[in-house]
Amino acid sequence: MKKIYEGKGKILFQSDKKDSLVAEFKDDLTAFNAEKKGSEEGKGALNCKISTELFTLLEKNGIKTHLIKVLSPTQQLVKKCEIIPIEVIVRNVATGSLTKRLGIKDGTVLPFVLVEFCLKDDALGDPFINDEHCLLLNLVRKKAHIKKIKKIARKINAILFEFFASKKLRLIDFKIEFGYDKKGKILLADEISPDSCRFWDKDTNEKLDKDRFRQDLGTGEGKGKVKMAYEEVLKRILS
Ligand code: 5GP
Repeated sequence: MKKIYEGKGKILFQSDKKDSLVAEFKDDLTAFNAEKKGSEEGKGALNCKISTELFTLLEKNGIKTHLIKVLSPTQQLVKKCEIIPIEVIVRNVATGSLTKRLGIKDGTVLPFVLVEFCLKDDALGDPFINDEHCLLLNLVRKKAHIKKIKKIARKINAILFEFFASKKLRLIDFKIEFGYDKKGKILLADEISPDSCRFWDKDTNEKLDKDRFRQDLGTGEGKGKVKMAYEEVLKRILS
């Protein structure tokens, strides 16, 4: 298969059909704009399964996504789309860069769901941008799409927040990406997994996501600590 694109977490290949791609989930772990690198065998398969489950749940609830079907434990067949170069970040609880940028105390439950945008540009370090920057840089095809993307992002949050609450997980925040399909419709693309979300255990606030890698929370118990957390998230999703 011809490689179309390689990102930090996935490789995209052209499939045998013009309008679809094969997304291969990698075992690589990166953080801080790839300054920190690692890998855990089986992480790609876990993210592929978790993301497939969540995209299927969202589709059932009326969200249009790029997912067509699963091809193997680490591969999905997805609709080809033109990725909108905006990382859409949705937050329920302050942590991570929000606490650093604005001085809000870590763990503060936000009074409303906060949607933020980052420019998807590794060379620039994915800077935070506002609606007007999106227009200035022609990141969307129509002005109204900014509002639409925020609306879909909030709907995705509402669906996932409730779902994870029923699994005794707090959905703290997450990053999603959208794309235009061949008809110009906006689809949820990329992935939703513990690489791109923060999950805290409802009772203990234990971190069950990539912060374990970012913050070396697994040190002392050897490799596999990140994967163990991802396995726990999958177990709860399937429960
Ligand atoms: P923060 O801005 O606090 O670093 O991240 C907010 C949320 O977005 C977290 O759930 C984090 O995992 C996700 N996120 C932000 N930037 C990226 C990115 O470049 N890649 C991935 N996979 N997730 C990101």
